[in-house]
Amino acid sequence: MSQISKGLLRSLIIRCSDVGLDCGHVIFGDSECRIIQNAIIHMHEYHAIIPEEMTTCMKMKIRENIHSYRDSMRAQILDESSDVPDKILPVI
Ligand SMILES: [Zn+2]
Repeated sequence: MSQISKGLLRSLIIRCSDVGLDCGHVIFGDSECRIIQNAIIHMHEYHAIIPEEMTTCMKMKIRENIHSYRDSMRAQILDESSDVPDKILPVI
């Protein structure tokens, strides 16, 4: 169980919406190469974008929007509890 979550924390993610598509799909991959490949497969299967027709701009957007899962979760936690820093600040 912990092996799975450790692997997940090391993995990379791209949100399809970050690439400019109206889609809530999150693509995972364990390396930059793999996640780009997964993104291209997703674009093909869900958005009928043929890999050969994918523009350089789109590939760049994919590469630019690769985040680590860990950073993404941290950002989300900070986002959801925006009042936390006020509570922590006096302690610091
Ligand atoms: Zn999508």
